Amino acid sequence: MRPFVYLSPSSLDECLKVLGELKDKAKIIAGGTDLVVNMRAETVNPEYVVDIERLRELRFIRIDDGNLRIGAATKIAQIEGSELVRQKAFALYQAASQVGAVQTRNLGTIAGNLASAVPSADMAPPLIAMDAELVVMSSGGQRSLKVEDLFAGPKATVLKPDEVITEVVIPGTSLNDRTWFLKLGRRKALTLAIVNVAVRLRMAEAVVREARVALGAVAPVPMRSRSAEEWLVGRPANAENFRIAAEKAAADSKPITDFRAGAEYRRKMVKVLTKRALSACVGEGEMA
Ligand SMILES: Cc1cc2nc3c(=O)[nH]c(=O)nc-3n(C[C@H](O)[C@H](O)[C@H](O)COP(=O)(O)OP(=O)(O)OC[C@H]3O[C@@H](n4cnc5c(N)ncnc54)[C@H](O)[C@@H]3O)c2cc1C
Repeated sequence: MRPFVYLSPSSLDECLKVLGELKDKAKIIAGGTDLVVNMRAETVNPEYVVDIERLRELRFIRIDDGNLRIGAATKIAQIEGSELVRQKAFALYQAASQVGAVQTRNLGTIAGNLASAVPSADMAPPLIAMDAELVVMSSGGQRSLKVEDLFAGPKATVLKPDEVITEVVIPGTSLNDRTWFLKLGRRKALTLAIVNVAVRLRMAEAVVREARVALGAVAPVPMRSRSAEEWLVGRPANAENFRIAAEKAAADSKPITDFRAGAEYRRKMVKVLTKRALSACVGEGEMA
C-alpha cells in the first residue's frame, strides 16, 4: 500500500470543505471493506483518505415525511437488524443479511456498497427496485440522484471527487409494495453474487399495477429489466406471466464470463431467480 495522509473530520461541514479543497487527491473511507482492499492492491492510490466514521449524523434509519431515510454511513448490520427496514423494505433487509460475513456487515456501509459500484453490489438491486434516491452533497450544494443513475461502469460512478452521499431515500410510494431479493453465489454464504435479483410488485385484486425487476452482476452496472416490467403491468400475477417476465429479464441481461461464472449460465440463472423472486413476492414460495 502506498503512503497516504489520514484525515478524520468531526462534522459533515468540515468533511465537505476538506473534500472541496482536495478534490481528486482524496478518497472517502467509510467501513473500508472495499477501499482498503483496493489500496492494498494499489489499484486505488489516494494521497488523502477522508474518514467519515466519526460523522454520527450520517447514521440513522427513520421514516420522515412518509419516506424511509437511511444515513449513508449506516452499517449493513444495522440495516439487517432494523425492524423498520424489515417491515417497510423487505428486499433490502434480505440483501443486507446476505452481504459477506458478520464482520463485513459490521464494518461495511450502505453508501460504501453503492459507491464501490461493483456490478454485484447486493444493496443495489433492492434499492433500484424501490426507486430509491441518494442525497449527494458537496461544498457547492446538494442534489438528488436516483440509485439507478449512480453507476457509470464497473467500479465507476457519476459522483464527483468532492461529493459525498449523505442519505438513501426510499419513497413512501414503494414502502407498501411487496418486494423480494434473491442471490446466487458460488457458495451458500460469504460470497459475491453470480446473479442477484430484486423485484417489487404493486397489486390490485391479483393484477400487477406497478412492477420493478432489478438485476445485479449481469451487466457492467446494476440494471432494470424494462421489458419484464412492461410485460407484468396490467396482467394477472400468475406463474405463466412470471415465467414470461423472467424470460424477458434474461434476454435484457448482458452478462459476461468471468472466474465466477459463464455468461450463458448467468443468463439462465437470471430467468430462474427472477421467476422465483416474483413468485415469492406474491407469497407462492420461491420454487413456484
Ligand atoms: C470478505 C468480504 C466479503 C464481501 N462480501 C460482499 C457481499 O457479499 N456483497 C456485497 O455487495 N459486497 C461485499 N463485499 C464488499 C463490501 O464489503 C461492501 O461493498 C461494503 O458495503 C462497502 O462499504 P464500506 O463502507 O466498507 O466502503 P468503503 O470501502 O469504505 O468505500 C467503498 C467506496 O465507496 C466510497 N464511499 C464510501 N462512502 C461514501 C459516501 N458516503 N459517499 C461517497 N462515496 C463513498 C469510497 O470512497 C470507496 O470508493 C465484501 C467485502 C469483503 C472484504
